Amino acid sequence: MKKILITGGAGFIGSNLCENLLSEDNYIYCLDDFTSGSKSNIQEFLNNKNFEFIKHNVINPIDIMVDEIYHLACPASPVYYQKDPIKTLKTSIWGINNMLELALKYNAKILYTSTSEVYGDPLVHPQKESYWGNVNPIGIRSCYDEGKRAAETLLTDYRRAYNINAKTVRIFNTFGPKMAQNDGRVISNFITQALDNKDITVYGDGSQTRSICYVDDTISGLRTLMASDFKGPVNIGNNKELTINEIAELIIKLTNSKSKIIHLQLPSDDPKKRRPDLRTAKENLNWEPKTDLIEALNTTIQYFSSNKCIEL
Ligand code: NAD
Ligand code: UDP
Repeated sequence: MKKILITGGAGFIGSNLCENLLSEDNYIYCLDDFTSGSKSNIQEFLNNKNFEFIKHNVINPIDIMVDEIYHLACPASPVYYQKDPIKTLKTSIWGINNMLELALKYNAKILYTSTSEVYGDPLVHPQKESYWGNVNPIGIRSCYDEGKRAAETLLTDYRRAYNINAKTVRIFNTFGPKMAQNDGRVISNFITQALDNKDITVYGDGSQTRSICYVDDTISGLRTLMASDFKGPVNIGNNKELTINEIAELIIKLTNSKSKIIHLQLPSDDPKKRRPDLRTAKENLNWEPKTDLIEALNTTIQYFSSNKCIEL
């Protein structure tokens, strides 16, 4: 039985990953400090004999004997990572340092969840892994973007120095069940607003784009990378690009909502375009997203309209 550590395991992607890995013969250590995750996301696993929760802040070192580490701990929503930017940056930099030391000590494989934000407000479109990005080092998103970039650097240097089995995935906007209702991201905001027939808050003129990926596809990407010899960095996401206005209209339609779209101020440094180039994933992992967008949105809407939906 493999011993697997999932940091950030009580968050959106982490709790879906716990569920996925528990369906096979694995022992899961789920580590989290509830910065932007919730106990309700992991409640259903707490009685599973192959699941152990550890309340811990990854800024501090930890010693557990493990075979694999999925290192996800870090708030992902701009609203949450900007609440305490100093902690966000320390979480990325000291967190990866502590996890790399753990991987080194136990010769464990480690997979780090980086982000499309390493490309910043990209000047190259779609974004391929060889693009170095266009990131403001001192803006309101920098605590997240630069933290993720520095973590990629440290991971790569540990691999060069110690030849550890360390991998980087750059996740593009992912959505699905177990996102917190009030975490401020576009899909959770729009679905919650539409279900309540409240105004849909589009920031700016809504012409900025994102490419949204269903969580099951993202998880299959993470697992395929972990199981392969490939080290990345590799983009994982969906390459169907939509404007924020199109996403708003789609969600209004799928929820039969009476909501109206209103426009609020665009936050600074908000990337204007985002779409992954997925050729590296296809060529090296034979991975591509499979879930139909409408089906994925309907499943997520159903989750948000159920009483299982969590608030932070
Ligand atoms: P999330 O905020 O739902 O989950 C992150 C989890 O990490 C939370 O449970 C939080 O409490 C925990 N955490 C934060 N700081 C911590 C700390 N110092 N110590 C211990 N635990 C801590 O976010 P998510 O969407 O599940 O994202 C998971 C990972 O994937 C993050 O690293 C994020 O940067 C990356 N990612 C996500 C997306 C996306 O669209 N969801 C896109 C790109 C990258
Ligand atoms: N956005 C929006 N209204 C909202 C939340 C987000 O228009 O209520 C926009 C945001 O300005 C950005 C896009 O949706 O252009 C995606 O935002 P999110 O916070 O989900 O993730 P990001 O990709 O910016 O990290």
